[in-house]
Amino acid sequence: TGSARYRGRFAPSPTGPLHDGSLVAALASWLDARAHGGQWLVRIEDVDGPRCPPGTGELILGQLAALGLHPDETPVWQSQRGDRYQAALDRLIAAGHAYGCACTRAEIAAAYERSLGPRPKHGELVYPGTCRAGTGARPPRAWRYRVQGCIAWQDRRLGAQSQDLDADVGDFVLKRADGLWAYQLAVVVDDAEQGITDVVRGEDLADNTPRQIALQRALGVATPRYLHTPLVLAADGHKLSKQNGAAALDLAAPLARLREAAVRLGLTLTESAATPAELLAAAAEQWRQANRLSCDTAPRGDAVG
Ligand code: GLU
Repeated sequence: TGSARYRGRFAPSPTGPLHDGSLVAALASWLDARAHGGQWLVRIEDVDGPRCPPGTGELILGQLAALGLHPDETPVWQSQRGDRYQAALDRLIAAGHAYGCACTRAEIAAAYERSLGPRPKHGELVYPGTCRAGTGARPPRAWRYRVQGCIAWQDRRLGAQSQDLDADVGDFVLKRADGLWAYQLAVVVDDAEQGITDVVRGEDLADNTPRQIALQRALGVATPRYLHTPLVLAADGHKLSKQNGAAALDLAAPLARLREAAVRLGLTLTESAATPAELLAAAAEQWRQANRLSCDTAPRGDAVG
C-alpha cells in the first residue's frame, strides 16, 4: 500500500497569485508525494497579514484546483493558528531557548557596527546579542531564538549542507515587534503538527533550513527530509518572484503550464495528455523512476486499505 507515512506539503505565502516559479515548487512537492504513494497537503502561510491581499489564499487554492493539484486534507491557514505559535514560544522561553528583545532597528544597527564593524548593505543583520542577558527595565518588543553553533544537514538534491548559526544568522526573531509571528517559528510548528515527513520547496528557502532544524531540536520534534528544487529565473537572471512582479499563471491552458513546470524539474513528458490528471500521472511515474523509488508505492486510489 505504498509508504503510507509520507506526508508532504506546499506552503505558499499568499502575497500574490501563483506564478511560473511557485508552480514549480507546488508541482515538485505534489510529484514527490504521489511518487512515494504519500499524502500532499496545502498550507496557506498568511502569518504576515499586511503583505497578503484579501482573497489571495482562496485564489491560489483555485489555481491549484484548475491544475489538478488537489490536497488530501482541508488546507490549513496560519492566520488561525496563533495560539499554537504562542504555546511553542512559551515552551522555548521556559527552556531558555528564547528571550525578549527590547532593541529598535536603529539600536541593532548601531550595536552591530560597534561590535562587528560596518554592516552589510544587503540582507538581515546578525543580531549582536544585546538583550541575550536581559532587557534591563525595558519592555521586550520582539522575541528571539538563542542560536548555538553549527547545523549540518543533508538535502536530497544539494547534498551535505551546513551553516554556522552564530556567525551567519545570529539570534533570529520568533515574534516580531509588531506582534506578527515569524515564518521560522510558524513553519516548524505546523510541519511538526501536520506530521510532515518531507519538505520539498524552492532553493531560495534552503538557507532557512538550519534555523528550522535548530527550532525542531529545541522543541523536541522530528526533522523532516528536505529537497530544495531549482529556481526558475526570469530572462534577466533574477529569481522569479511576486516581489519582482512575476505574472500570475495563465490558466487558460493548464496543460501547457504543467508541462512547462515539469520540464523545469527535468522531466521529459513525451506522452500526449488530454487532461491535467493524465499529465500529472505520467509526470509522477517519471519522478518515481528518476528518484529510483520502489514500484510498490501504489498511486493514490489504487492502494487497498
Ligand atoms: N511560505 C513560504 C514561501 O512561500 C514557503 C515555506 C516553505 O515551503 O517552507 O516562500
